[in-house]
Amino acid sequence: MMVLPAKRLGFDVAVLDPTPGAPAAQLADHHVVGAFDDAEALRRLADRSDVITYDLEHVDTEILEGLASAGHRLRPEPDLLALVQDKGRQRSFFAQRGLPGPRFEVLLDAPTPAQLAAFGGPVMQKARWGGYDGRGVRRLADAHATPMPVPSLLEECVPIELELGVMVARGEDGAEAVWPPVEMSFDSAHMLDALVAPARIAPALRQRAEALAAAVVDALGGVGVFGVELFLTPGGELLVNEVAPRPHNSGHYTIEASVTDQFEQHVRAVAGLPLGSTALLTPAVTVNLVGVGQGPARVVGLEDALALPGVAVHLYGKDAVRPGRKMGHLTVVDADVEAALVRAHAARDALRIEGSQG
Ligand code: ADP
Repeated sequence: MMVLPAKRLGFDVAVLDPTPGAPAAQLADHHVVGAFDDAEALRRLADRSDVITYDLEHVDTEILEGLASAGHRLRPEPDLLALVQDKGRQRSFFAQRGLPGPRFEVLLDAPTPAQLAAFGGPVMQKARWGGYDGRGVRRLADAHATPMPVPSLLEECVPIELELGVMVARGEDGAEAVWPPVEMSFDSAHMLDALVAPARIAPALRQRAEALAAAVVDALGGVGVFGVELFLTPGGELLVNEVAPRPHNSGHYTIEASVTDQFEQHVRAVAGLPLGSTALLTPAVTVNLVGVGQGPARVVGLEDALALPGVAVHLYGKDAVRPGRKMGHLTVVDADVEAALVRAHAARDALRIEGSQG
C-alpha cells in the first residue's frame, strides 16, 4: 500500500521480501528476494536506494545499523526500530519519559511462579520480541498459570473502556501531523475486528488522545508514520499501550477517508517532503479480511460486497491462505458512522477468502 503512492509521486521503488511474487513486489519496480535478516540482500537493496524504510518492524537492526554507518539513509532510524522491537525497552522508555502506562516489570526470561506472585495478578505476559496481532501476548490469571517460555514484559491487567489508535506523522524537520483518534475493537484472538473513524468520544478526550500520541512520537524522535495504541480506562485515564514505527492497520481507513493517507504521508516523511493534511473527509469503518481454511486463495462473494454502497475492498494478493492470516481489508465510508459499521460487517460476511485445501 506504500508502493502505490510512492509511484504516484514519481519514485522508483525497490522492495525486499523473501517471497517471489509478494504483494509489494507485484507493484514495485524491483524486487530483491531475500529474508529480512539477509545482510547481502539488504546491502543490494541499500545500494540501489536513496532512502530505505520498512512496513514491518521485524528487520535485523544490526545489519541496518551497519548500513546507516556506511552512509545509507534509513527512516525511521535503526536505533528507534531496535528500541520499539523490544516491548520491554519500549515500555521502560515511555516510563522514563513520564508517559502514562500500566505498572510493569521487564524480565530477561519467562516469569517464575515466585515472580508472578510478587508482581500480583492477573498479569499480561508479553513476549519482548517478535509478537504482533496478539501473538506473543498471554493473560496469566494467577501465579500458577503457564507462561510463554520467552523473555517477557509483565504488565498489570488494566481495565479497558476503549482502545484508541492515533496515527502520527513526523517529518525530517520535527513537524508533526496527527490524524483523529479511531476506535479499535479486537476479536478473541486479539486480531483487529473493526475500526471506527473517528472515535465516538468527546472533543476534550479526543484532544487529550492526540496530544498524548504526539508526545509519544516526539519522545521517540523518528521520521515517518507511527501508530500509537492507547487504552482509555473507565476512570477516563489514557495509557500508552505500544507504538508501531510504520503505517498501521488502524490507519488503513485513511486511504478512503483522509485528505492524505498514511502511506503517502509515510513516503512524504521519509523522503523529506512536506507532510500533507490529516483532515478527515468522511467517517469510515475498516474490517480485516482473514482467510478461511488454508492453501491457494480463492475469493468468493466480491460482487455481493461491492454491491453495498461505500464499500472499498483491498485484497493484498497473497497467494495462500493460512489460519489467521490477514488477506486484505475493506473500508466503508458513510456520513453516518453507525450505518458504516453495519455495512462493514455485512460486506465482510458476504466476502470470503478461502483456502482451496479447506
Ligand atoms: P500486539 O502487539 O500483539 O498487538 P498488544 O500489546 O497490543 O499486542 O496487546 C494485544 C491486546 O491485549 C491489546 O489490544 C489489549 O486488548 C490487550 N492488552 C494488552 N496489554 C494489556 C494490559 N496491560 N491490560 C489489559 N489488556 C491488555
